[in-house]
Amino acid sequence: MDLRLLDAAPADEERAAVDVVLGPPQSGWDGGARGESRDTHTAEFGGRATRERRHLLLPALQALQARIGWITEGGLGYVCARLDVPPAEAWGVATFYAMLATAPRPRRVLHVCDDIACRVAGAREVCERLDHEVSPPLTHTPPGEQFALDCERPAWIHSPCLGLCDRAPAALLVEAGTTTLERSVGALTFERAKALLAGSMPETDAAAKPVRGASASGRSEESRLLSRVGVVDPENLAAYRASGGYRALARALEMGPEAIIREVTAARLLGRGGAAFPTGRKWDAVRTQPVEPHYLVCNADESEPGTFKDRVLLTEDPFAVVEAMTIAARATGCEKGFLYVRAEYPLAFHRMRLAIDAARVAGLLGHDILASGMRFDIEIRRGAGAYICGEETAIFESIEGKRGEPRNKPPFPVSHGLFGKPTVVNNVETLANVLPIILEGGAVFAAVGTTESTGTRLFCLSGHVSRPGIYEVPMGMQLGELVALAGGVRDGHRLQAILLGGAAGAFVRPDELTLRLTHEDTRKAGVTLGSGVVMVFDETADLRDSVLRIAAFFRDESCGQCVPCRVGTVRQEEALHRIAAGRTLGGLASELALLDELGAVMKDGSICGLGQTAYAAVESAVHRLGLFAVPAQKDA
Ligand code: SF4
Repeated sequence: MDLRLLDAAPADEERAAVDVVLGPPQSGWDGGARGESRDTHTAEFGGRATRERRHLLLPALQALQARIGWITEGGLGYVCARLDVPPAEAWGVATFYAMLATAPRPRRVLHVCDDIACRVAGAREVCERLDHEVSPPLTHTPPGEQFALDCERPAWIHSPCLGLCDRAPAALLVEAGTTTLERSVGALTFERAKALLAGSMPETDAAAKPVRGASASGRSEESRLLSRVGVVDPENLAAYRASGGYRALARALEMGPEAIIREVTAARLLGRGGAAFPTGRKWDAVRTQPVEPHYLVCNADESEPGTFKDRVLLTEDPFAVVEAMTIAARATGCEKGFLYVRAEYPLAFHRMRLAIDAARVAGLLGHDILASGMRFDIEIRRGAGAYICGEETAIFESIEGKRGEPRNKPPFPVSHGLFGKPTVVNNVETLANVLPIILEGGAVFAAVGTTESTGTRLFCLSGHVSRPGIYEVPMGMQLGELVALAGGVRDGHRLQAILLGGAAGAFVRPDELTLRLTHEDTRKAGVTLGSGVVMVFDETADLRDSVLRIAAFFRDESCGQCVPCRVGTVRQEEALHRIAAGRTLGGLASELALLDELGAVMKDGSICGLGQTAYAAVESAVHRLGLFAVPAQKDA
């Protein structure tokens, strides 16, 4: 790519969009009109001060994208001048994120999910008809032709999981302009997609239909995490307080950091994002770091295919997330927190921003929270379409305005995190558990579940179940009981397999339904709870297609930083395609051996969890389900 940014001038609307994020330029050195000092090499606006705003690079690029639908060279050049970022570096960032376009793109784009849950719900057919009867997807338009696109016409594009698996098939409509329009759409049909492309707007965001928890015995259980969902107005702080909101913070302020961490440790709360690290230990490690400042990051970049639990908490109980972040900050000595919400959750972003603003106005964030002297505030950031940014160090890079590439560990985030400072990173559901822990005490919390897996857990039921949705159940429930709570496999069909834990999880068989949903039981069985995905496939599902989609997902989402993952995910997908086409190299056994070998290399040699788990679901399909053992092969 030949970048000639000096030749390209930003349009007025591009300048305006960037200035909303960065403020008006102070001088010629800051992107404004150059004065007489242009050639004197004397910065009118300090270079250091400008570079310290580097973390605003991604929001500035997002502002350009949101205003006209793509990032022009003129717009990119203006951002570079404003932030003193080399153009090549800014280009590297802009091209890293899937939701940012660096070639002309129409203002209105429909992102159609074709990930696992949506495929089994008919997304493939919707995409095929759009392709044949409307237009080819943007992803299939050669770069040269993209420049010839009529940017005023609508277009569609394939998307990885949009986190709307309970409403599959799903789409996200984005229309750039002075006021950006973003709508999540569930129950997508070809006719609906066509209408959306033609300008018919859905009235509301696809609302979650969360289902509150029940116990293994079928008795209604008092839910801890979903008690306000669907009951309390998520945009009303007074309603949240009237429902018991902010009692936990008031108590936490009296308790002090050590006592808070004692309760969280007594609760034996494990992280709910997938890694299951003990939260109390993480908090204590940050609290005791001598280096200041400490940062808090709430990881709301929920992107694991099949996962949508955090979306429900963010959209339906946003004040609880703010309150829990404030308690975490109190425990770990943070005065600044970042909430990083995935780009595909527009309603969650909107509700969280409202909640943060309302909390600030009410003195629940800011300089003297509840007159306690505590200082803490939250800055909300949006992802831009990169699964890898859910990795705990990639999220730091993204917030700092860089490509979301994971860091080598050690050093660990507790000592060297965001901006190189001690940082605590917690998933949304993990934080939501802190409120009942403070209110009930750690011991009461730990009385639910098992010794090693305490509390309740949110599971995302999707696929061929009668009632897809979020289910909150005590840890330790059997897998089959959970599926039964969701109404079981849809009427008239039988279970073929369940994907447990997401694309980074594993398939389990119908004869494994007695598996208890705990960390210890799943570990023993060689699977994982992951992010709480329970995706059900009946006998009509094409599981080979699902496995190929998973392989394509990892190939697409690999950040490319380390060879085992960058090359391994490509080779894995190629081998699966050869098997699917019956054109194996050296026979099926040889291809399966190659897959095992690639899987081992990715697991052992990758920097981060993406590469380390990229073979997990494929491996389970090969060895647990025996998915590729049967067909007759026509060896090439
Ligand atoms: Fe990037 Fe994959 Fe390496 Fe992770 S394992 S750092 S995603 S290339």
